[in-house]
This record gives sequence, C-alpha cells and structure tokens, in this order.
Amino acid sequence: MPTKTIDQIPVDGLRVLVRVDFNVPMQDGRITDDRRIRSAIPTINSILDRGGSVVLMSHMGRPKGEGYEASFSLEPIALHLATLLGRSVGFPSRDCVDEAAATAVQSLKPGGVLLLENLRFHKAEQKGDPYFAEKIAAYGDAYVNDAFGTCHRPDASMVAVPQAMAGKPRVAGLLVEREIAFLSEAVANPKRPMVVILGGAKVSSKIGAIEHLLPKCDAMLIGGAMAYTFMRALGQPTGTSLVEEEHIPTAERALAAAREAGVELLLPIDHVVADRLNHGSPTRVESQIPDDALGVDIGPETATQFAGRIEGAQSALWNGPLGIFEWPGADGGTRAVAQALAKATKAGATTIVGGGDSAAALDAMGLAADMTHVSTGGGASVEMLEGKRFEAIEVLDQIG
Ligand code: ADP
Ligand code: MG
Repeated sequence: MPTKTIDQIPVDGLRVLVRVDFNVPMQDGRITDDRRIRSAIPTINSILDRGGSVVLMSHMGRPKGEGYEASFSLEPIALHLATLLGRSVGFPSRDCVDEAAATAVQSLKPGGVLLLENLRFHKAEQKGDPYFAEKIAAYGDAYVNDAFGTCHRPDASMVAVPQAMAGKPRVAGLLVEREIAFLSEAVANPKRPMVVILGGAKVSSKIGAIEHLLPKCDAMLIGGAMAYTFMRALGQPTGTSLVEEEHIPTAERALAAAREAGVELLLPIDHVVADRLNHGSPTRVESQIPDDALGVDIGPETATQFAGRIEGAQSALWNGPLGIFEWPGADGGTRAVAQALAKATKAGATTIVGGGDSAAALDAMGLAADMTHVSTGGGASVEMLEGKRFEAIEVLDQIG
C-alpha cells in the first residue's frame, strides 16, 4: 500500500513536526556538502506555502548522548537553512526537550520555522525511548518523515514519536516519497532492459542486494573488490586481491541463480592492478591478475563492455564504485560507468544511484545532476535495494 505524503493532507494552521536527516559532513564548523539540507526544502515549503508552521528535528554525527557538545551542534545548519529558505529559522536552545525549546515551539506562528538541537544529545534517541518520544510528539499536530538517510533505523524520532502521535496525520515527506519511488517501485517494475551495476568493497555487505535484484534485471555487471570473490568461485586467478573466502559459496549461489533466471552476469575481463594496497601505489593494466598483485579497478576493456551494456539499457541501477576511485589511476572504471549512465539518462533511460561512496564519486566527477536519481541515503539506500521493510515507513499512514 502506498504511503500517504505531505501534499495529500491539509496543513493550514497546523504545527508540523518534520524529521529530516541533516547529518551532513562538516569540517571546522563548515558544511562541506549540503545536499541533504537542500533535499528537504520542497517538503518545508509545501507546509509553509499552505499556512502551516514547521518544527524540524535531526541528528548529526555520533555525540556521546550525555548533553550538549559544541562540535555536534546543529546551529550552523539552522543558519545555512535560513539562507536557502530566504526566511529566518529559529534555533531555540541547546537541548531539544528543555523548556526553552517547548516554549519556542508553542509560540511558533504560521509560516514560522524552527530547528531543534541535535536529537542524539540524548541517548534516548537511539534507544527508541518512549518517554523521550512523548515529549517530542507533543510538539506537533502532524508528523512528517523526510529523513530518508535514517529510515533504516528504529530511533525514537523515527518510530516511537509517530507511534506516540497516533490519531494525528503521520505522513512521508517529498524526499522520502521520491526515494521510495526510485529505490523500491522503479526497481520492482523497471523499464527493460534493466542493468544493475554492483561494486564496492565487499560481497558480504551486498549479498541481500544481489539476491533481491538478480531476478529483476536483464544483466548484472560486477566490479569493485566483490568481483574477486566471484572470480574465485569460477576458479580464476585473483592474486592478492581482496577475496572473502567465506563468501565464495555466496558467489557460487548468485552465479547459479543468474544462469537459472537467464540473467547475464558479467565479471571483469581485464584489470587495473597494483603491487600493494597502499594509497597511490603505481597501477598497470593486466588481462589476468598476476600472483603477486591485486586488483584495484576494472580494466579498460571491461569498462568499455560495461559502458556498452549501460548505454543499451532503459533502466540502470548502480551501487558501489568499480574500483578504488579514491586513488589516482584506479578511478577509470567508476568514471566510465558514471559517464555511460549520464549518456543513458540523456537518451531517456531511468538511472538510479544508491550508496554513500557511489554518490560521493559522482559528486567528485561533477556528474550527479546527470542521473535521474541519486539517493541521499547511504545504508538506507542499500537496505531498500535489498527489499527490506522499514518500520519508520510502515508506521506512517497508508492510502486506502
Ligand atoms: P557504497 O557506499 O556506494 O555502497 P561501498 O561502501 O560498498 O560503496 O564500497 C566503497 C569502497 O569500495 C570504496 O572505498 C572503494 O575504495 C572500495 N573498493 C572498490 N573497488 C575496490 C577494490 N578493487 N579493492 C579494494 N577496495 C575497493
Ligand atoms: Mg560505503
């Protein structure tokens, strides 16, 4: 059943409590990537434009959970959000549930916005504590979950707060709606041919995604370190590459499942290798991985083959860099795949990217805007691609 969204409920005169994910990277008190903040703006404006007021709440980083810590304060985010919205954003106190916060919430007028301080200054947030949740639940006439990056976590503000607000509207925000539309619905019923590109460091962190996505696609292209575990399953040489011995049977199962389902499963046919796993080690191209070397990227022939498959697709889903893209000389495969995806998007294909490192790679290459959808969720996007159900979404009102 589809989840009800914020644009489907009246908000005139209502104080709307919105859980956002403003867990953005910061350096020396400066926000280094504000994508998650920008992504929350449509929901905030949808409420303000229709006569509601907005109480925002989020976590950031991993504070101790024993009260205020300046380096984890959301104050710089409130200032940045005010610039993006072009209106003032209240930031009432150093504690999301003290009297100053409660008073500021009570006196909020239609069109007003305020941001509560970091929820994780209380251990109760990650414990899912219902008493903490009740205090926060009292702030809102309606609840919105627009925190996609946190949707896989059963934290108090994600589950216990909406539970405590039973009887009031509890809906998804526009970002969460969009993430579900691409990472769940578009994947369940894709335009064909559908190509899935998987990479990254480990088979073990992507088993669920491999198994969930295999029956839904026409071809699965595997690169990154996980390719070496698959190569071992096929008896191919992998030198000193990262191989997860205990997951060779997992790879064997996936290979068998692909054969059975008639899904083409492509592994690298050439390799960028290095002698050591040290940042910046010199790299070279080999058609077979030598005994004393390790794979750090897919080779140029593989990149061309993968790009060809992507350009012939109507839908493409990518998760996980194809090589150690952080190294110069081991970023070619990731770049080739990203460029092929950009070309496919221009030709009318639906291109979807999940995973924190994959999104970071796209940002670094300046290609994020060339995808149909780049998820704001790291772990949450991978779990959604595994077909997992999220309590934080199931607790929301459904349509019908
Ligand atoms: P995402 O965050 O997009 O889901 P992962 O976290 O699964 O991606 O994987 C990203 C990491 O995988 C990167 O840090 C990258 O360096 C690493 N990686 C990719 N290819 C290799 C390889 N051949 N050997 C070692 N590490 C690799
Ligand atoms: Mg990652």
